[in-house]
Amino acid sequence: MEKLFLYNTLTRKKEQFKPLKDKTVSLYACGPTVYNYAHLGNLRTYIFEDILKRALLYNGYLVKHVMNITDVGHLTSDADSGEDKMEKGARREKKSVWEIAEFYTKEFKNNLKDLNILAPKVWCKATDYIKEQIDFIKVLEKKGLTYQTSDGVYFNAKKFPDYAQLAGLNLSGQKAGARVEVNAEKKNPFDFALWKFSPQDKKRQMEWPSPWGKGFPGWHLECSAMSIAKLGKEFDIHCGGIDHVSIHHTNERAQNWGLTGKETVKFWLHDEFLIVDSGRMGKSEGNFITLQTAIDKRFNPLAYRYLCLQTHYRQKLIFSWDALQAAQNALNNLYEVMAEYDQPKIGCAQYEADFLKAINDDLNLPKALAVVWDLIKDDTMPSAARKQTLLKFDSVLGLNLVKVKKPKIPSEIIKLAQERLNLRNRREWRKADEVRKKIEASGYFIDDTKEGFIIKVKK
Ligand code: AMP
Ligand code: ZN
Repeated sequence: MEKLFLYNTLTRKKEQFKPLKDKTVSLYACGPTVYNYAHLGNLRTYIFEDILKRALLYNGYLVKHVMNITDVGHLTSDADSGEDKMEKGARREKKSVWEIAEFYTKEFKNNLKDLNILAPKVWCKATDYIKEQIDFIKVLEKKGLTYQTSDGVYFNAKKFPDYAQLAGLNLSGQKAGARVEVNAEKKNPFDFALWKFSPQDKKRQMEWPSPWGKGFPGWHLECSAMSIAKLGKEFDIHCGGIDHVSIHHTNERAQNWGLTGKETVKFWLHDEFLIVDSGRMGKSEGNFITLQTAIDKRFNPLAYRYLCLQTHYRQKLIFSWDALQAAQNALNNLYEVMAEYDQPKIGCAQYEADFLKAINDDLNLPKALAVVWDLIKDDTMPSAARKQTLLKFDSVLGLNLVKVKKPKIPSEIIKLAQERLNLRNRREWRKADEVRKKIEASGYFIDDTKEGFIIKVKK
């Protein structure tokens, strides 16, 4: 069996992956902050995570996939300043935070369905885990890893000797404010909020009592508390977009160490950005495109999935409408060949081996797609075998190939095609040509193949 290798951000190496426990992989993925629609950049990350999960399943593992919904505490700056994105979003829409959270969670789940992303086994909302988060801080406080300022309870990053490892940060060389905004009361620039107090002058919609004062949890704490609550103090994989490496995941890792004294996550996986002309696609960058915009332009959402598969997840993907159109065309071609193939039978072993090799080499989907097209072009393979193998591949690709149906050809057309073949075999070309014309007049045409013929529907 081909070994599975994944690039671990923590060690900066491709490492062989094996689950901590038996055959079940514990996988945590940072979910959306539900104050607006997800954009195509966010969705690239969820497609990458889906490919990862499908590749694990393809390798015979079971996957316990947990995804959170951030519905409180993510401030407009990833470091702990600015306004809560949820409260800001609610004001923009003149609704309550709870209403917008519900609305955008639903929209997000619809996006996942449209992109054929397998739903996580467990969903968890930050606001449902306030007690776990407070208990978490209590442990960190007991261990002397926290301190209090006028606006919250902070984690003292200097206490974690390995703080810089995940992001490869150079702590001494980094000026305060280069990565995080300056807060005069913080002991070190990298310290981060575990609990923020509600402002004195404004009533927040979301706030809870705590031993330190009324307020709300820090964004990083949510993911630590929920991942450990759902997957335990040691789990296999934590993933998200590349922007999470230097702050969000670095801080999660520090908290986890504070709680458990160990490395909680074995593999950290991150995908690169989707970018547009103006730079990274982002909600706050004001350059974002939603999946619905693509659907309104008559694209199949799976064309976007196909586009993502064409670039390795650790490389930047440049989005353009032309690129999406090209992906849509390739997908249509794929659907067309699938529709022509015979009923699936025993597959093509060599291609299956090549495909597995590609996906097990750190999810090399561009290579895997090349295997798909090589197989389609290989006329020495019977069409039924090609179909069988492509359906197998689709359990990783997720392009819904199984839904492609062979068009129903009327029996009189099949009879005519057979009659034409017999005439051709007897070298009665003129008569054979007449039959061909009859077939075409009925809206079909014939492709001659080594095995005989294929009847296609005229477009
Ligand atoms: P958010 O809803 O902002 O918390 O982001 C949800 C996910 O999308 C996170 O894993 C981010 O790292 C990821 N993300 C944000 N912007 C991009 C982008 N332009 N390309 C790829 N992933 C992104
Ligand atoms: Zn997270």
